[in-house]
Amino acid sequence: MFDLAGPARIAKAYALDAANGQPPRLVLELEAVDESDFDVSLAVVGKPDAHPGPAATAISVTEPTPVEDSAPAPKLTLAPDKRPVLVIDPGHGGIDNGTQASGETEKNLVLNFSTALRDRIEKTGKYRVIMTRADDTFVPLGERVKIARGQAAALFVSIHADALPHGEGDAQGATIYTLSERASDAEAERLAESENRADAIGGVNLTDEPAEVADILIDLAQRETRMFSNRFARTLEREMKTSVRKHKHPLKSAGFKVLKAPDVPSVLIELGYVSNKADLEHLVSEEWRSKTVGSVAQAIDAFFAKRMVTAGSAD
Ligand SMILES: [Zn+2]
Repeated sequence: MFDLAGPARIAKAYALDAANGQPPRLVLELEAVDESDFDVSLAVVGKPDAHPGPAATAISVTEPTPVEDSAPAPKLTLAPDKRPVLVIDPGHGGIDNGTQASGETEKNLVLNFSTALRDRIEKTGKYRVIMTRADDTFVPLGERVKIARGQAAALFVSIHADALPHGEGDAQGATIYTLSERASDAEAERLAESENRADAIGGVNLTDEPAEVADILIDLAQRETRMFSNRFARTLEREMKTSVRKHKHPLKSAGFKVLKAPDVPSVLIELGYVSNKADLEHLVSEEWRSKTVGSVAQAIDAFFAKRMVTAGSAD
């Protein structure tokens, strides 16, 4: 029995398998309805004290409600949320700390950044924002992609702050990555490799992943997705130029697993290198974070504004 603030009906009920160390869950999605709709649905279900007889009784209970215009049957009182969905993906989490240096962990830095970004964007009210993790839990890479696809996300933004092994030169500043089978340079390739190792850290059985389907339809969708991903990456670069110190080659690509949704434009932002002293000072600074969150939010806004114009009157 649930106590609700108003009339509601069960919009969806489904079970989720155990995942990420969580037990199996039964999910009930409730939807607000007005009094009269509630009464109608009650009548259909049957009175609470009705005998749980054979199925036929449920039909006989249905009252002949005098509805004149019964044509548009699924009349919802609550308009479905048609705002574009943005998925923010804070890298690592749980047993996967990501990079660690000077007592700071990448997983915490990127979660703080992502939470601030979510709050900033939600304030505009223009987008529905979903986080792949909102706390310190491990989420496999494939699961992150699945969340974006399941929500039919219009944009997926993964947030990281990594390190280069010693002796890799003094790389510093923010870098923006898109997906490519061929890495744009050795540094990008090494980074993608280390990011893709996250699943191994979390004990995810990689053989369970479905083989990639070489389908021409997927290929076509991917082409469009890639175009949007690249467009967002360029917008992001422009916006971040004003506030964030950038890597000398700020736009790169490599085979990041987390960017592989064929139908969701996806970009990975390396905010900076935890292993670089100047970068780390920025990463832990409230002022830097606020400024950078502002730039990313601006880029997201610009991306969607352009996308809506491009989509024209299409839904
Ligand atoms: Zn990372």
